[in-house]
Amino acid sequence: MKTYISPWPETTALPAFPRSICILGATGSIGDSALKVIKKHPDKFRVTSLSGGRNAKKLAQLCLMFRPPYVGVLDEQVQAAFTACLPDDYRPNILVGPEGYATLASMDGVDIVLSAIVGAAGFMPTLAAARAGKMIGLANKESLVLGGHIIRKACQESGATILPVDSEHNALFQGLAGHEGDDLQRLILTASGGPFRGKPVEFLKTVTRDQALAHPNWDMGAKISIDSSTLMNKGLEIIEACHLYGLPVELVDVVVHPQSIIHSLVEYVDGSHIAHLGNPDMQIPIAHSLCYPCRVEVDVPQLNLAQIGSLTFEAPDPEAFPCLRLAKEAFSAGQSYPIVLNAANEVAVKAFLDERIHYLDIAATIETALTRHTHVDVSSPEAVLTLDRITREEAAAQIRQSPCNG
Ligand code: NAD
Ligand code: MG
Repeated sequence: MKTYISPWPETTALPAFPRSICILGATGSIGDSALKVIKKHPDKFRVTSLSGGRNAKKLAQLCLMFRPPYVGVLDEQVQAAFTACLPDDYRPNILVGPEGYATLASMDGVDIVLSAIVGAAGFMPTLAAARAGKMIGLANKESLVLGGHIIRKACQESGATILPVDSEHNALFQGLAGHEGDDLQRLILTASGGPFRGKPVEFLKTVTRDQALAHPNWDMGAKISIDSSTLMNKGLEIIEACHLYGLPVELVDVVVHPQSIIHSLVEYVDGSHIAHLGNPDMQIPIAHSLCYPCRVEVDVPQLNLAQIGSLTFEAPDPEAFPCLRLAKEAFSAGQSYPIVLNAANEVAVKAFLDERIHYLDIAATIETALTRHTHVDVSSPEAVLTLDRITREEAAAQIRQSPCNG
């Protein structure tokens, strides 16, 4: 693809094995799956750094297992709790805060960065990896939603390589390999539909946090699970696909596919559709991206299509799931709107998880934030972060004043 966000990986000299890896967000769901792949293939990786957010205990357990010489933590409090869990014979270098994550991601000697922090906090470390010319396994879709235009420029300048970890984008990447882009007709993202597929708006008014967290097919972190239930995850993924493959939003469609076996499709001008199939387990796209261009075994049950029986498809319901429309509109409206979309979503999802707002208030909060916004220049990372911060403050204030809260 001529318009790929980074030099197309096949044409780049990728690092030799064993690859030295930095995992940002190692204590999360993607981190878990990635470490399973690494454990199964110790000959392929050297774990140079692991980072976590607030979960000091889990980070310490992982570090004791993999013994990375560098570790990243959120703040001094987490650092103290983390250090207290370590034995005398293991004293890694600990880097603290957002600057610490960025340093880990750009450090000499690191070959691959797995970007798996959740939310906008992943943007600056991903950008640091892009500027440093690293091979990046990209799970953190929010970093492209915020600053795909900035990351693209950084990759083109440094020669950094992006391998998509998000299962849909990894599927598209595999379906696009070997094509120049002129014969591409459309990208089709599949969506499971989440736990509320087929439910009317009336039902959604009263759904609880636990109902929304119970994803039918994927085992994921809390934020992405709520995003999957509102279809905002698919909205963010449309934007992610537009940035990755340099396409207008009109060329990216969504179809609901409840079994989550087909992970996405590429449609060519001759009517051919190249689909990617696999069991819904993130070890598959993670192994593909971290070991690219090699394929390695993973501990996932073999796909048994006869047992699955049928694969079904339906259109998303725009009335019950307005987040899909909001994301498309935000991308079309220009670069600053997706930043507002994402920030308002993160604040609203957190408020819903804390049981401070109702489920339908999530989309309402985002729509209000987008309606109030007028375009601002976001060509620098600083401008992106400023708009992200201002939107969060405004969305939080809006939630406090909301008549629906409580
Ligand atoms: P998670 O909540 O399970 O894990 C998030 C990780 O980020 C944890 O290590 C956490 O400690 C860390 N973290 C949280 N806030 C942080 C902060 N402010 N600074 C630094 N670190 C912080 O999330 P996840 O499900 O693993 O998802 C991670 C990313 O991957 C998200 O962007 C998500 O959209 C994307 N993704 C996840 C899946 C999946 O199956 N889980 C699939 C596709 C894409
Ligand atoms: Mg996905």
